[in-house]
Amino acid sequence: MSVHTPAHPLAGRVAVVTGASSGIGEATAEKLASLGAAVALLARRADRLDDLTARIRKDGGTALPIAVDVTDATAVQAAADRIQAELGTTGLLFNNAGVMLPAPIEELATEQWQRQIDLNITGLMNVIGAFTPQLVAAAASRGVADLVNTSSIAAQNIFPNFAVYSATKAYVTHLSRHLRTELGPKQVRVSAVEPGIVGTELQSHVTDHGVQQWLADSKQSMDWLTPQDIADTIAFLATLPPRANLQQITIMPTAQPS
Ligand code: NDP
Repeated sequence: MSVHTPAHPLAGRVAVVTGASSGIGEATAEKLASLGAAVALLARRADRLDDLTARIRKDGGTALPIAVDVTDATAVQAAADRIQAELGTTGLLFNNAGVMLPAPIEELATEQWQRQIDLNITGLMNVIGAFTPQLVAAAASRGVADLVNTSSIAAQNIFPNFAVYSATKAYVTHLSRHLRTELGPKQVRVSAVEPGIVGTELQSHVTDHGVQQWLADSKQSMDWLTPQDIADTIAFLATLPPRANLQQITIMPTAQPS
């Protein structure tokens, strides 16, 4: 285990990252590990988690890959129990797994509506349910813990065809605001991160042609954020002094108009 030094400010902390097999979660897990946290990696694709684990361990870090579907509450609880037993009490939770499937509402893509609600809301809650006791315990013993939920600029701004996705992210931001009133007094900092467009696998799941074209045009016209930009932001908030809670963070490509 890393020793707490300026280079390893997260040494001694156990971090859990959901959606760690790609994009924002993968980059953030690697960043937190480089800062000394022991990191549990959660997502469904075991091979991707194994590759990331190997990279983290090669760099001297600690990683525990757990293939899990976060929409399965029992499996998430089993993962939480295993992390507690193998790494220790979780003190930093990056609750990040999510899916974006925009389409005009009149297409009635009900299966895609459900997938977004199941993962972005129910999955998020399964993870909060399984890890909140550990976060509260970690805060009690170390003086601070972090619950960081990945929301989106879509929680604030209005985009045609993104109604269901945006509503799931509005849920995440509003939930985070409320949890702060309960968990803040227990030294658990709750943050909602609201990125604009970040180049990840997220866009590759979009099936609506109109939205695909909109994304392609957007990529031509501006420099999208990278997953590392978000990872650096999470690292910054997690390394603030225990008295400081960076509550809500909007991070956008400089040229993204809204
Ligand atoms: P990716 O598609 O690259 O990552 C999504 C991650 O979620 C993957 O690791 C995926 O892994 C995991 N995941 C999907 N379904 C499940 C499941 N049922 N159980 C467990 N894990 C699951 O996209 P991003 O990195 O961009 O997305 C991360 C978060 O950022 C999401 O919440 C997204 O809404 C949000 N966001 C993204 C923005 C962007 O422009 N990219 C902008 C604003 C917010 P696997 O398939 O292996 O399970």
